[in-house]
Amino acid sequence: MADIIRLLPDHVANQIAAGEVVQRPASVVKELLENAIDAQATSIKLIVKNGGKTLIQVVDNGTGMSETDARLSFERHATSKIQRAEDLFNLHTKGFRGEALASIAAIAHVEMISKTEVQEVGTHLKIEGSRVVSQEVAVAPKGTSLLVKNLFFNIPARRNFLKSDQVEFRHITDEFHRVALAHPNIAFQFYNNGGELFNLPESDFKKRIVHIFGRKTNEKLVPVEEDTQVVKISGFILKPEYAKKSRGEQFFFANERFIKSPYLHHALLGAFEGLLRQGSHPGYFLKLAVDPATIDINIHPTKTEVKFDDEHTLYAMLRSAVKHSLGQFNVAPVLDFEQDQNLDTPYGHQNRSPSVPRVSVDTAFNPFAETRSVTLPRSAPKKRAQGWEQLYEGLAQREPQTGGSTLTFESEAVSQGFFDREHGDLQPHATTFQLRKKYVVTTIKSGMVIINQSRAHQRILYEGFLKDITIKEATSQQLLFPLQMSFTPSEIQIVKEIKDSLGAVGFIFERIGEDGVEVKGVPVMVSESEVQMVMEQLISDFQLEIPGDSFSQSDMLAKTLAKTLSVKTGEVLDEASQNALVNDLFGCKEATLSPFNKPTYITLTENDIDRKFI
Ligand code: ADP
Ligand code: MG
Repeated sequence: MADIIRLLPDHVANQIAAGEVVQRPASVVKELLENAIDAQATSIKLIVKNGGKTLIQVVDNGTGMSETDARLSFERHATSKIQRAEDLFNLHTKGFRGEALASIAAIAHVEMISKTEVQEVGTHLKIEGSRVVSQEVAVAPKGTSLLVKNLFFNIPARRNFLKSDQVEFRHITDEFHRVALAHPNIAFQFYNNGGELFNLPESDFKKRIVHIFGRKTNEKLVPVEEDTQVVKISGFILKPEYAKKSRGEQFFFANERFIKSPYLHHALLGAFEGLLRQGSHPGYFLKLAVDPATIDINIHPTKTEVKFDDEHTLYAMLRSAVKHSLGQFNVAPVLDFEQDQNLDTPYGHQNRSPSVPRVSVDTAFNPFAETRSVTLPRSAPKKRAQGWEQLYEGLAQREPQTGGSTLTFESEAVSQGFFDREHGDLQPHATTFQLRKKYVVTTIKSGMVIINQSRAHQRILYEGFLKDITIKEATSQQLLFPLQMSFTPSEIQIVKEIKDSLGAVGFIFERIGEDGVEVKGVPVMVSESEVQMVMEQLISDFQLEIPGDSFSQSDMLAKTLAKTLSVKTGEVLDEASQNALVNDLFGCKEATLSPFNKPTYITLTENDIDRKFI
């Protein structure tokens, strides 16, 4: 048989390599920004259009490249950053593989203009799919401009795989945040579709954080500082009371490189233990400086995972440094005070021993609840109750699905349905009681139903919101004073995208500005104190995934609102609320499942119980 193995042509090899290096537009942004930093730029401009799909440009004032270097830089394994294998263990640059430009040029239309200090004129190169299409001299300032157009133009499958412009843009913004935070001493500008999004002057770490995440961040930061032989830790954590529902603001940098480390994240969680509200995530911006010889950044092509020699020590040091800061800045007692303010005990307080700050956390604590005992339907004002009736209508023909067996309540009135529709009133039909502040239990003819209160309420709210959005007749309550909320530019972007759906459920915006919004109306079921939390949760959910069509957008909005506003485990429900919950749940179209596809209730028949007694 003839020999069949041959070497792949370079452009094919480059395309394959590109698959690893360039996953999406944000990967290109990362590589180009890092190249500019490695070239010692002090000012870097990023320009993107359509989520980076049509254009990504990075302009720097760094060292630039000679004519030969400009040509060579697009060859695979062409790098000025390492020469020997040993250099890998003493890296001071972001790049070292010499793959990025070759990969990008293999799958896009690329233009480079570059000039060094000593050159009179610069070099202008055009490359399309690894092919040099032109090379000219060009008048240019010192530095490099790299323009990447039509990403994946020659790999339609990859191009089609890209998410919406908004999602890709979000990934780019994340990347930009990471790089800009890691290098506060470099000035950055970021333009999106022609508009300036960030103009960050050269500054220090704290100011950079504030410039990116908004003025209000300043007062939320607590410094962390620890200098040991193994590691120098510096940076900031967000005070626990500002912990967000989203995981957004969590940044570790190792030697000025953004890294992901579930292990070190765990150390942080440990330090914050007992100080966070349930479901909120600590925010941190922490820099670790270690000897480059003790860190391996070679294990992943996109280089966000690293390996430290002495992870255990690092873990312990990080945890104790953060704990120390939390203690030193007296963060813990503040939270304690917040928790107790409901108790209103000014006199007794004088006699309390001041020396023992108690930091026990009641996991059921809901800082947004006005009262501890929740009255349902706080969420179902009159109008909604009428709405529910329509939902019940279907029940006449359709027996509710109860996981196989038909559910019939014990009282006579119910046997026709679950409630007395004739009187339009939701009457309690059977005794209910609450079990462990988590379940509502009630009897049915064949035995009992155990309802998960939180999931059931989610289902009820979800269907209500979905209906509001679809028929666009939600009522909004006007706020006496419009609420000001500050958000980062990327968060504002999301608010703009979902503004119409938010309007449909009752949010009315007075203004959506550069760094914040003014809300003058909110859905009837959202209390003023909940608005901030609801908005944060919405933004954080939409940050993770922007739904493509308007139906999924409505669906997601309804889900998020339901999740955020539903009663939680740990909340006490009075009897009327328990009854309303039971009735409303079984009035739902899809009573068996929560909007997140978890069972809302289970039934225990007499038979099931009998069997336990055998
Ligand atoms: P790496 O960064 O891993 O070396 P790249 O493919 O990203 O590989 O870049 C190849 C080479 O091109 C770099 O080593 C550097 O010498 C040069 N280069 C790339 N971008 C720039 C830039 N913006 N300014 C100056 N030189 C650059
Ligand atoms: Mg590089």
